[in-house]
Amino acid sequence: MSLNDSWMQRDLAVLWHPCTQMKDHEQLPVIPIRRGDGVWLEDFDGKRYLDAVSSWWVNVFGHANQRINQRIKDQLDQLEHVMLAGFSHQPVVELSERLVQITPPGLDRVFYTDNGSTGIEVALKMSFHYWRNSGQPNKQRFVTLTNSYHGETVAAMSVGDVALFTDTYKPLLLDTFKVPSPDCYLRPDGMSWEEHSRNMFAHMGQTLADHHREIAAVIVEPLIQGAGGMRMYHPVYLQLLREACDRYDVHLIHDEIAVGFGRTGTMFACEQAGITPDFLCLSKALTGGYLPMAAVLTTDKLYQAFYDDYSTLRAFLHSHTYTGNPLACAAALATLDIFEQDRVIEANKTLAARMTTATAHLADHPQVAEVRQTGMAVAIEMVADKASKTPYPWQERRGLKVYQHALQRGALLRPLGSVVYFLPPYTITEEQIDFLAEVATEGIDIASRASVSVAVAPGAPANFHDPG
Ligand SMILES: *Cc1c(COP(=O)(O)O)cnc(C)c1O
Repeated sequence: MSLNDSWMQRDLAVLWHPCTQMKDHEQLPVIPIRRGDGVWLEDFDGKRYLDAVSSWWVNVFGHANQRINQRIKDQLDQLEHVMLAGFSHQPVVELSERLVQITPPGLDRVFYTDNGSTGIEVALKMSFHYWRNSGQPNKQRFVTLTNSYHGETVAAMSVGDVALFTDTYKPLLLDTFKVPSPDCYLRPDGMSWEEHSRNMFAHMGQTLADHHREIAAVIVEPLIQGAGGMRMYHPVYLQLLREACDRYDVHLIHDEIAVGFGRTGTMFACEQAGITPDFLCLSKALTGGYLPMAAVLTTDKLYQAFYDDYSTLRAFLHSHTYTGNPLACAAALATLDIFEQDRVIEANKTLAARMTTATAHLADHPQVAEVRQTGMAVAIEMVADKASKTPYPWQERRGLKVYQHALQRGALLRPLGSVVYFLPPYTITEEQIDFLAEVATEGIDIASRASVSVAVAPGAPANFHDPG
């Protein structure tokens, strides 16, 4: 038995994997990874996979990065962890100073949690709580875009709209306002992203005008709706949203958990709209993909609404045990150093341009409706019919064919439903981008030709996606 097989068997005997129908593993192997090296992951049989999705969008500077490793090792010998209530430490202070410095003006306070979903919970709770503390307790509801994703905990699911992740749990969820997304894949033929995004704002404007007295906050994934299939829109939408939130006294929550740290071409997506949200949620690439941590930045105005004598019960009494973990902070500090020292945002422009040229030919593919890109994210939308953009029935799992082909060829390219995408580490080379495009093209050819038969669950919603 190969080493891979042996680890796989031991794994399948005891593990329950995330976002997985475990029965799939009767056919699909689990791939045990022995080591990482830059953009490469290597399994126990020595086969290498180019990590085209940055291991679920977290890894920006490669695996086993020497500079991040060293910083964590140094921190490890100093202090591994201390509770953050009543105590503090050097890396958490330094990281907070730097986050305040590099984010848009006005975001002056940092609250930490230990993953993205709980970061979202914090922003939602703080917003709700702010309005209570400010004598407007009727402002309790949240506005969200269709096809959005904000995480897996119950309130985070409530503001999400990807049926696959949330439908089952509907009875548990908060009642939110769902506004049609500015998703430019759905724009009329010949219309620009900007015009479509601007037009779609009418729905948001109307919801805010009608209901602002009961609305605490609007939450968006700026520029890219990630788990919803890498759907994209124009920054003008964020500008209009900022103006409307100001006009109606509603908070604006930017979930930059996936898009923060350079993914959209700027350090933070909100920079492209020239705005400051009331809450900025960061995670994923924050630690370079090393350790779980999230940061929620907010304004001094928000902070002040909680600052009072203890007995007024205005304090934000929310905590997660590993809040502000020093090792995670050290990884984040090393990551920010690399951004600065290597002038990464600037250097990424060359890579992004190569991603454009390497995938351009796919726009003519008979089974591709669109190739779209924002910065360092490219998505290729496979469809059953190109002219009408008719999707493949989700049950056919065409994306899985691409995934399997890519694994054979040595790439981790895991589509979202029928959307094949690259979200590579920024340490990828132009030649490696070409390789990914080649593998994706082959995979899309194979997936288009495949004849599939499926068992269809009755009453399943139309907008199901395969797990990302
Ligand atoms: C991944 C993600 C989350 C959730 O983060 P977790 O760390 O997985 O809980 C929330 N919002 C967006 C936009 C994400 O991509």
